[in-house]
Amino acid sequence: MKIIEVKKPGEKKKRARALLLFSGGLDSILAGKVLEEQEIEIVALTFRSQFFGAGEAIRAIEELGWPLVLVDISREQIEIVENPRYGYGRQLNPCLDCHGQMVRIAGGLLERYQADFVATGEVVGERPKSQNRQALGLVEKLSGIRGLVLRPLSARLLPATIPEEKGLVDRERLLDISGRSRKRQLELAEKYGLKDYPTPAGGCLLTDPGFAARAKQLIKWRGRLLPEDIELIKTGRVFFEPDGLIVVGRNERENEKIAGIAGEADILVTTAGIKGPLACVRLKEAGPLSAGREAKSDRDREDGAAVAGEYFSEWRADQGSLIPPGQEGEGDRKGMALTRMVRQIQEGIRSVERQEPMNAKSNIPCQGAVHKACLLVIRYSRAREKERASAAIIHRGMVLELEFCQAHWKKYL
Ligand code: SF4
Repeated sequence: MKIIEVKKPGEKKKRARALLLFSGGLDSILAGKVLEEQEIEIVALTFRSQFFGAGEAIRAIEELGWPLVLVDISREQIEIVENPRYGYGRQLNPCLDCHGQMVRIAGGLLERYQADFVATGEVVGERPKSQNRQALGLVEKLSGIRGLVLRPLSARLLPATIPEEKGLVDRERLLDISGRSRKRQLELAEKYGLKDYPTPAGGCLLTDPGFAARAKQLIKWRGRLLPEDIELIKTGRVFFEPDGLIVVGRNERENEKIAGIAGEADILVTTAGIKGPLACVRLKEAGPLSAGREAKSDRDREDGAAVAGEYFSEWRADQGSLIPPGQEGEGDRKGMALTRMVRQIQEGIRSVERQEPMNAKSNIPCQGAVHKACLLVIRYSRAREKERASAAIIHRGMVLELEFCQAHWKKYL
């Protein structure tokens, strides 16, 4: 778990302080606003993992001016996805366990940030499965800080919390919103003059049916979720073969991303002498070795400025640049070099060693998943219209070209 103080909370607290679970969405903004009216200081706490980013929270905080603490829970969330105590939602989203964990982490940070309680933007009945009364109680139980979780938007429908009993928070000035209608939230947004806030769309990949299906296949194929594999299946067309995982880029951007993500042990495949996709083959026995390759995920790119807290202002000045200037890692540089190499191979500029298909003279494996990747890159390029076409296999600095005839890739058309 990595903690980054994007905007450091003040050293000295005033009357009372709340640690607010903050997604950047309207409900969490309103929860903070309701408490602020009672002169309660807000310290916003946001999370990110391989499955969701903190971009919205970082963007929203600029206007609100609240201190912001970012916690990376990538490892912790993978453990929960692999083994949730309370099961999944519609897709691969273990929301109850995940939310319980977030509140528990917040509880553990209360002392560090001199906060009196944890606040959340949850609304009773807003989400039938994860925000009904029973689920809210369960989250509090999982968090281990019973009585210290205050939901300002629905507080008057729920039992009084310790900060209310202690008189730190005036219960009468808290709200009694329930249900899925957004009417009262929209009225409040107008009251507080909020205009630019994201719609409650979520943004967690675990709720995305396409990604969830791939992740389930990955668990079956590898037996577990590895961070390097998760990064790979976020991109392109994904194929699971008994001996390897193949990811084929669908456009230039995905090709570049694949080049950036690929580890040292991975095998890259592209078309030779003609423009086409870049595929990455991760052989099961080789594992996702990525030594020396610090490929950045989309989330890293999105939250890049937050990761390097001191770059926050530069990021603000140039929101188009998601990685702070000069922060490209080793993985980015290698990815760029690989992308250049791939382009040269496709343009026929770089000379490559030629071989017949399935000839295992070199050290480069040309069978199973690698063989299929060769046919796929041809199938997804204009080379598929030809009688014969070549694919280039790139592995540990070596490049090998294999020629195929249409009968080979026809089955993938
Ligand atoms: S949507 Fe994703 S991040 Fe949010 S609680 Fe569910 S699993 Fe966790």
